[in-house]
Amino acid sequence: MTAENKHGMAISNLAELLAYALAIELDAHERYMMLADQMEQHNNSELCGLFLKLASHEEHHAQEIRDRAGDIELPHLKLSKLKWPGTDSPEAAELDEAHYMMTSWHALQMALKAEQRAFEFFEGIVANVDDEELKRWAEEFRDEEAEHVEMVEQLLERYPKPSGSWSEDPDPPNLQG
Ligand code: ZN
Repeated sequence: MTAENKHGMAISNLAELLAYALAIELDAHERYMMLADQMEQHNNSELCGLFLKLASHEEHHAQEIRDRAGDIELPHLKLSKLKWPGTDSPEAAELDEAHYMMTSWHALQMALKAEQRAFEFFEGIVANVDDEELKRWAEEFRDEEAEHVEMVEQLLERYPKPSGSWSEDPDPPNLQG
């Protein structure tokens, strides 16, 4: 885990800010669709429903960002190349592992991380941007992400951490062939 400066993301203009925000929302949307699919396979309709709902929230956010951008041409950002404050960036390996042995708790943990990251991103804008209109806009997004964090945290109270460590495979593959 790398400890990045909380406001280490160098955002120099509106187009870049919107591009980051869009990348966050699209990533969240994609991740929630994947998590919903996982939970469906686990026959957990409650969490499947939650993730579908969050997926549609994030998609709606993405559309709002596109609307806000209007004619502004947004730079293409690869989310995996970005540095995120305080959290690991989502790596393909993490998702592979998730597919392998995911429980409801793990799915919620992934959701929580994504939501906290989104919250911190918009909070960072609120704290660092002088433009009043932009600040208000970021505040709105931040508050919605705070609601998402709360939704996930509330559900986590009902889905306790499973015993044992996720990374401990009780039946590791036989490497001796
Ligand atoms: Zn969210």
